[in-house]
Amino acid sequence: MKYHDSVEQSAEYLRRSLPLMSRQGAALTPISYAIWYEYVAGINPALQARVDNLTKDGRVLDDDLTAELFRRYVADVDHETAHRVSHDLQQMMANVSQSAAHAGHKAGEFGSALETWSAGLLSSPEPATAVATHLASLLNHTRDMQTSVTTLKTRLDDSQREIEELRQEVDRAREAALADGLTGLSNRRGFDMALSSCLADIGSHGPSLLIADIDHFKHVNDRYGHLFGDKVIRAVAQILKENVKGRDTAARYGGEEFIILLPNTPLGGAQALAEQIRAMVEGCRIRRLDNQESIESVTLSFGVASHRPGETAEQLLARVDGALYTSKQQGRNRVTVAGA
Ligand code: GH3
Ligand code: MG
Ligand code: MG
Repeated sequence: MKYHDSVEQSAEYLRRSLPLMSRQGAALTPISYAIWYEYVAGINPALQARVDNLTKDGRVLDDDLTAELFRRYVADVDHETAHRVSHDLQQMMANVSQSAAHAGHKAGEFGSALETWSAGLLSSPEPATAVATHLASLLNHTRDMQTSVTTLKTRLDDSQREIEELRQEVDRAREAALADGLTGLSNRRGFDMALSSCLADIGSHGPSLLIADIDHFKHVNDRYGHLFGDKVIRAVAQILKENVKGRDTAARYGGEEFIILLPNTPLGGAQALAEQIRAMVEGCRIRRLDNQESIESVTLSFGVASHRPGETAEQLLARVDGALYTSKQQGRNRVTVAGA
């Protein structure tokens, strides 16, 4: 389990969470409580920083923002899987080492039996009887040793299989922690990792970034409902997936905001791709959930920027964000290239 606080401690967190939670605009659901519980308990610094930032000007968290915070900062981290995997591994190593010790012990007994036998043979007045007795005992020891070596081999085979299963489970958990649940694109964490490893290994061209934000999305939600809003987000994500390839990383960067990392790509290529996606999304008709009629077109605004030598990830992100802001200001449904 993720939380290990005592009844008293958790009651204290409840007492401190309630006023904070009720000051927000979101419903008082377990999701909202999870956020404020982790906030007051001080166990989730990333969440805390984000909440402080979001609420610093007296802004309140609504249902959407609360759900987004939960998905990004609370639900993503699968502590339980990590804990279980490490526990299973420890258990397995203990079993193997126990079997190995047992096999070693049996081999030791076999060695001692051999020594006793040869000593007995040399000193015995009746060598033939002595040989028969010692041979029987030796046979017993040999069988014992064979059994324990076979057990060890079975244990090792089992362990190998279990290690492979655990490895696959860790891979799956890792993938899930870096993926966005709604769209299957990378999430922000996945994107941040891809960007920093890309900047650590720059090819002949630096990478380019392309950021896209759905225009007037609040209006879509207000008019057609949140579920339909989710459908729109998935439809846009699908178009992004179809337009990236190979080493590109397409991610859902925030609620209705997407970002694409194009390693080793000049500005012109990124701009052309943004324009291509912009036109595809504009031309795409999304059907309503209730009556199958299409809604008016959904559009995206874009910012595009190419990495400058020596620039940090933060600086590059700030520039591409600035370009997106310009697109919004100049009327939306357009691509703006950040100044070089
Ligand atoms: P702009 O053109 O300036 O980007 O306007 P906007 O309405 O798209 O932008 P704003 O930031 O005002 O609103 C974004 C909305 O996106 C608010 C929030 O309710 C919604 N949203 C965020 N995440 C999700 C989600 O996962 N699903 C749905 N349906 N809506 C979401
Ligand atoms: Mg928007
Ligand atoms: Mg936005």
